[in-house]
Amino acid sequence: MTRIRARRLDGLTSSAIRDLLELTSRPEVISLAGGLPAAELLPTARLAEAAVSALADPASAQYTETCGLADLRTVIAARESGRLGRAVDPQQVVVTHGSQQALSLIAQALLDPGDLVVVEEPSYTGALQVFRAAEATLAPIPVDDDGLDTDALEELLAGGARPVLVHTVATFHNPRGAVLSAPRRAHLASLAERYGFRIVEDDPYGDLWFGTPPPAPIASHTDRVIRLSSASKIIAPALRVGWLLADRDVCASVELLKQGADLCGSSLTQRIAADLLADTAWLDAHLTTLRGTYGSRAHALTDALSAEFGPDVTYSPVRGGMFTWTTLPLAVPAAELLPVAAGLGVAFVPGDAFAVAGDHTRSARLCFATSAEDELAEAVRRLGAAVRAAGDA
Ligand code: PMP
Repeated sequence: MTRIRARRLDGLTSSAIRDLLELTSRPEVISLAGGLPAAELLPTARLAEAAVSALADPASAQYTETCGLADLRTVIAARESGRLGRAVDPQQVVVTHGSQQALSLIAQALLDPGDLVVVEEPSYTGALQVFRAAEATLAPIPVDDDGLDTDALEELLAGGARPVLVHTVATFHNPRGAVLSAPRRAHLASLAERYGFRIVEDDPYGDLWFGTPPPAPIASHTDRVIRLSSASKIIAPALRVGWLLADRDVCASVELLKQGADLCGSSLTQRIAADLLADTAWLDAHLTTLRGTYGSRAHALTDALSAEFGPDVTYSPVRGGMFTWTTLPLAVPAAELLPVAAGLGVAFVPGDAFAVAGDHTRSARLCFATSAEDELAEAVRRLGAAVRAAGDA
């Protein structure tokens, strides 16, 4: 019989968020669904300048090293050294096709079918897809406003569970908006050392803080961390430049798999990323703009939610990143509200898209980064109309 698909695809479903992109790209829909940076803040002029300058050297149009362009790895190592408060060797950096590829390669490099992976509940869907494709067994641990509940994790471990990896979006959680508190970061690091698992600190949003910077990365507490970050949210997703920071053994395994996955990343976009990341005066000014705009939008969104739904709505405190997690007064599951809402010109991601085993049917992830303040206010008015329409149906 002709094989149509391998067994590893059995448990996989298409990402609800990717599927939503078609719906939300209709011009009449205000989308709070995607995690898209604001289009008008993408630094296209600076990118064009860097591209022209890069292409003066034909090496920018050539293949490059699998682990990434040396200049870019050096810039990333310097950035990470500052952040972690210790020297980071560029040899500990592997540049990947977005941090999504880093997640995928880590799972392939470290997981055998049936291995236990602790994930957050709710969780970043892109991580769930990767761990499911690796045929891992998932153990969900709840996330509250202070991030992953490390006491619940300790209980799981004390009960004999031995995860290979613990995946966490510790800073400005996707979808929950939470920040893992400093004591919980230290607790998680100590658990990793006691029980021998590795932490995947998935951190694409850490630079996007509004009031005060987040606590130091988990990787500053222990070297049992594989740290991922990305140029996607601070420069542009189209560069497809992400990176992982890990010990040399993990880097070597990831590099071996990356040879088979894509030979190497794009020399051109890596050179552009190196130029922009090294230009700290430009980058600091750009980050200040992003923080200011996203912070104002976050507050515009939560103010509009309070005005529309009063005490019937809850939303996570917005301290940075791109999302707030909202629980609405719904007569129907959020997934059933979505087509009604889309018909009225607003889209969001239903909470269940992020579920591992939990029930998030009354919740939704709302992205405040993409739309202007007046659009956010209008989106919430439409959401209110959709909630009422769904309640009457
Ligand atoms: N991790 C998290 C938590 C994310 O939210 C995303 C993007 N939505 C990624 C990783 C992947 O981003 P990229 O591949 O663009 O770096």
